[in-house]
Amino acid sequence: MIKGHCNCGAVRFETNATPRGPSVCHCSQCRRQSGHLWASAYVPKEALTIKGHVRWYDSSPAAQRGFCPTCGAFLFWHAHEEDTMSFALGALDVPTGIRLEKHIFVADKGDYYDIADGVDQRG
Ligand SMILES: [Zn+2]
Repeated sequence: MIKGHCNCGAVRFETNATPRGPSVCHCSQCRRQSGHLWASAYVPKEALTIKGHVRWYDSSPAAQRGFCPTCGAFLFWHAHEEDTMSFALGALDVPTGIRLEKHIFVADKGDYYDIADGVDQRG
């Protein structure tokens, strides 16, 4: 069982599914939404139980981002055409048992840091 929650605890989530695709996104939307980077993994949408009120923001016509309306923690990302839900790795209780597989949208990354952890990088 993987469990996570927002900074204030008003939104909690859990899943029994094995998280897939753990990655760090460097795109400008994730940078602005999170303040730096957004690390996430995904499970089938029906396998993720969410408790508490989530505010959804349509960040593009294709996807929405879910955050806690009280503390603002950015917890979820969902593409309308996909049956999966991504959740923030930073919100998980440890130990997570998860290791990052890749950095994504690296071409869009900020200019104030380098990626030097040896994890695979994708454009
Ligand atoms: Zn909160």
